Amino acid sequence: MLTRRLLLGPGLSSLGLSSLGLAMTFIEPAHARRHPRHRHPAARVPLVMLDPGHGGKDPGAIGVSGTYEKHVALAAARELRRQLQADGRYRVEMTRGRDVFIPLEGRVAIAQHKGAALFVSMHADALHDHRVRGASVYTLGATASDAQTAALARSENAADRFAGPAFRHASPAVTRILASLVRQETRLGSARLAHGLVGSFAREDVPLLDNPSRHAGFVVLKAADIPSVLVEMGFMSNREDEAALRKSHHRARVAAAMRRAIDAYFAQLGPSRGAPLRYAG
Ligand SMILES: [Zn+2]
Repeated sequence: MLTRRLLLGPGLSSLGLSSLGLAMTFIEPAHARRHPRHRHPAARVPLVMLDPGHGGKDPGAIGVSGTYEKHVALAAARELRRQLQADGRYRVEMTRGRDVFIPLEGRVAIAQHKGAALFVSMHADALHDHRVRGASVYTLGATASDAQTAALARSENAADRFAGPAFRHASPAVTRILASLVRQETRLGSARLAHGLVGSFAREDVPLLDNPSRHAGFVVLKAADIPSVLVEMGFMSNREDEAALRKSHHRARVAAAMRRAIDAYFAQLGPSRGAPLRYAG
């Protein structure tokens, strides 16, 4: 049986997303009927969900010279969307395309509802130490990798409380097994993308924070089934970062680095192209 072979197989890291996707469909065939991907062959192009941080009543960090993080995040996400859409390899959507407030859980829900293959949250927050500058990339961790990151996650999460992933329609045993497989695959994907992003920033000469690959309990990274990263493109609390992020050519460079990392991520996935792993909706 497919699921048994998967479970007893030699090491999870070699499992493709497509084989897990098959297991999902096997367990919960209703998913195949519900999900638009199966109704429209053209929609098999993977969906990248960009998540510009903050918006509306939540300005995010306010820069040393008054720039709102929410505006920088949206401008950068629009630029990345433009670049990703250029050659038709992806569909790209954004959790917000204008200056509106969306709760953190709502952002994850949008990505899950649309069947996103990847979730990329874009920020430029503030730190108490105004000297600290540079980009950094965060994946989900049970505990923060350092005190700076813990403080960031606390301020990001303050407005919302976490609602866990929904595995509603499977037996408890199946749920446990599948949840563990899916989480493992999601963790690997998130880590691979984060690693690629940091390397890509370095090659593009985008200034990087010390130890730029970090982990924290950001609410927007908690989709169990979608590889997710949060990119701090720089810090509004640093004068140089703020000035750079106000400039469209700098945002274009940041976006170009991110696009290359996303290209490499999907290239390495192969034919499954990040088919969503979800089976309960
Ligand atoms: Zn932010």
